[in-house]
Amino acid sequence: MFVPPSGSDRAAWLKGPQFTCSAVPPKSEHPWRLILLGPPGVGKGTQSELLAGHLHACHLSTGDVFRAAKHLDQCQATPAMAAALEAMRHGKLVSDDLVLAMVAERSGCLQCQGGFILDGFPRTVKQAEDFEALLTGLRVTLDAVISYELSLEGTVLRSAGRLTCPRCHAVYHRASKPPKQQGFCDVCGAELKQREDDRPEAVRTRLREYSNLTEPLVAYYHQRGLLVPISADGTPDEIFQRTVALLQSRRNTARPTPRGAVAAKPSYT
Ligand code: AMP
Repeated sequence: MFVPPSGSDRAAWLKGPQFTCSAVPPKSEHPWRLILLGPPGVGKGTQSELLAGHLHACHLSTGDVFRAAKHLDQCQATPAMAAALEAMRHGKLVSDDLVLAMVAERSGCLQCQGGFILDGFPRTVKQAEDFEALLTGLRVTLDAVISYELSLEGTVLRSAGRLTCPRCHAVYHRASKPPKQQGFCDVCGAELKQREDDRPEAVRTRLREYSNLTEPLVAYYHQRGLLVPISADGTPDEIFQRTVALLQSRRNTARPTPRGAVAAKPSYT
C-alpha cells in the first residue's frame, strides 16, 4: 500500500479500529488538529497529504474510507455500507448517521498523538454539531478549520482533470500533477482511473450538494473563531506554502476561545 509522507498506512482509519497503523506519528507537544473544507476537486486531498508530511499529523479522509470499503469483504456485506457506496457512486452524500458512526468508531484516530487533518468531514451542519459533541467527550480541541476557496469554473476544471490510482489511492492531475508515465501510477505502476464521482454528471451533483449542505459550515466555524479562509488559486505548492504561513501566524497569535463563546471575526491578512 502507498505510504504517504506522514509515514503511516492509516490502517486504523481506512480499515477500522481493529487494525493497527504501520507507523504512529511522533508525539508532538502541540499536535495540529485541523479540518479542511472546500468544494469537491479544490485539492483538499493533495493539501492534506502535503500538510500531513509537514505537520506529522494523520490524513483522515472519509471519502478514502468509503473507497477502501469497496475492497473489504466484511464491509461489502453490510447493507448500510452498500447503500453508502451506491450514494457515493452518484456523487450524493452518504447519510449523516452512517458517516458519524464510522467516525465515532475511529475515535482512536482523533486522539492520535500526532494530531489529524480531516478531509471531507464534517460535510453537513448536523455532522459538525455531532462531531463537536464527540470531540468534547474525547477532550480533544480543534486548532483551525481551513476553507479553500476557488471559483466555480476552476473547481470544475480541477475535478475533470483528476486521476487516481485504484490500487494505492495516489492522486494526480492531467495538467498540474501529471504522472511520469502517462496513465500509470508513479508509486505502484497501476493504471490510473478517473473516479466515478469525478464524471461530469456526478461533479454537478457534488457541487450542488456542497453549496446546499457543506457551505453553511463556513459560517458555522467562523462563528466559533476557527475559520481560516485560504485562496486555492495557483499550484499545489503555492497553496501549501500559503496554508503553512497562515497556520503558523494563527498559532503565534492564538488565544483560546471559551467554550460556547462566539469569537470576534478573525483577521488573517
Ligand atoms: P470525497 O473523497 O471527500 O470527495 O468523498 C467521496 C464521496 O464519499 C462523497 O461524494 C460522498 O458520497 C462520500 N462522503 C465522504 N465523506 C462524506 C461525509 N462526511 N458525508 C457524507 N458523504 C461523504
